[in-house]
Amino acid sequence: MPMFDKILIANRGEIALRILRAAKELGIATVAVHSTADSEAMHVKLADESVCIGPPPARESYLNVPALLSACEITGAEAVHPGYGFLAENARFAEILAEHQIGFIGPSPEHIRLMGDKIEAKRTAKRLNIPCVPGSDGPVTSQDALKVAEAIGFPVLIKAAAGGGGRGMKVARNAKDLLVALATARSEAKAAFGDDAVYLEKFLDNPRHIEVQILGDGAGRAIHLGERDCSLQRRHQKLLEESPSPALNASQRLEIGEICAAAMRELKYKSAGTIEFLYDEGRFYFIEMNTRIQVEHPVTEMITGFDLLNEQIKIAAGSPLSIAQSDVVFSGHAIECRINAEDPVTFQPSPGKIEYYHPPGGLGVRVDSAAYAGYLIPPYYDSLVGKLIVHGRTRNEALLRLRRALDEFIVDGIDTTLPLFRTLIRNPDVQNGLYDIHWLEKFLAGGGMEVAVA
Ligand code: ADP
Repeated sequence: MPMFDKILIANRGEIALRILRAAKELGIATVAVHSTADSEAMHVKLADESVCIGPPPARESYLNVPALLSACEITGAEAVHPGYGFLAENARFAEILAEHQIGFIGPSPEHIRLMGDKIEAKRTAKRLNIPCVPGSDGPVTSQDALKVAEAIGFPVLIKAAAGGGGRGMKVARNAKDLLVALATARSEAKAAFGDDAVYLEKFLDNPRHIEVQILGDGAGRAIHLGERDCSLQRRHQKLLEESPSPALNASQRLEIGEICAAAMRELKYKSAGTIEFLYDEGRFYFIEMNTRIQVEHPVTEMITGFDLLNEQIKIAAGSPLSIAQSDVVFSGHAIECRINAEDPVTFQPSPGKIEYYHPPGGLGVRVDSAAYAGYLIPPYYDSLVGKLIVHGRTRNEALLRLRRALDEFIVDGIDTTLPLFRTLIRNPDVQNGLYDIHWLEKFLAGGGMEVAVA
């Protein structure tokens, strides 16, 4: 089996640790990189070697491509794992590594680029028989917009072609709204992205967010590993994810999974990836594909028993996919909470020193975190302190286990969102799986947390 001897991890925090653990189990030596703000970080302590790549701002360190290339050069790392965020979906970075004969543990630059372009991604999805949101085929002119909107039916959503992060989207509920909304969307898109091209989609009122995990080896073998329901979101940021989705039955799961796997076989997609959908009244609507490992991948690992990072690294080293679809058996239920260093009511970031740290344990409890007692959380990066993932034989068992584990978790010295999850897990809608992508914002706007912490 082809395998790397040494890889460089171009990331920090819990995902750097996650990659490091997978690499160690494969017998691969690890190189950590870090900014000057991260010299005491856990990923630096646990790696075989480490290289300081620059000052705290990410663009001067974790996004600093020349510094990363130098770090590969001086350590002899054969490949780079980008994790998520930072350079994970930067096609140019993958190309530059290839130009220097360094491997990229991820998909081909062509696939990263294809899926990074919203309109091309949707066209590709449609061609691969992945169900899409009805809408315009590419950018619309103001003259065409009304015709397109009437054909797909109001309400419609106007999206920036160059958009991202949920910015520049406007809803139009009727023909009169449409012209005004188009003009606002165009000027916002121009200001944010320097491009005023917009396209239309049918607006789904109360969908769920359901995504499918896939793995492909680039030689036409691809499988799916079921779905994750990530509907509990605030400002388009996922806070709690679970698998299986409480909204799907087994045949719906297999149907959408097989559609995604077949599409990835046709595309000859290589590496781990996630195909994201909105799900409304029994139907799936493609929104985007993430060409990287995701934050919430552990819920899939817990119900399938497969190590996604291990597979991703083996595939990048040139191995054929070692898992057949028939090997993927779903067992029980898993739930993940993303615990952030933030005030649980205002969501203000709360960097600082962790004075005391006690993670929960016991059967079916996993904590992916780079935190430790005495660790100083720097203010420069995202506020994820760790992920608590629980597994149970049934959803109810997982919920009871999560409640117990959340109550055990102690992080002193900074504010965290632990109280938010302790409240959510006791809420009947969450317990019954009755939530859509707007549920959490409505709960928060209704003062749900103020009541809880009072
Ligand atoms: P971006 O790339 O800007 O994040 P996405 O297309 O991924 O944009 O959409 C961001 C979010 O906006 C989705 O997660 C969903 O909450 C909402 N959204 C997107 N498309 C629709 C739609 N057609 N109807 C309703 N909500 C939508």
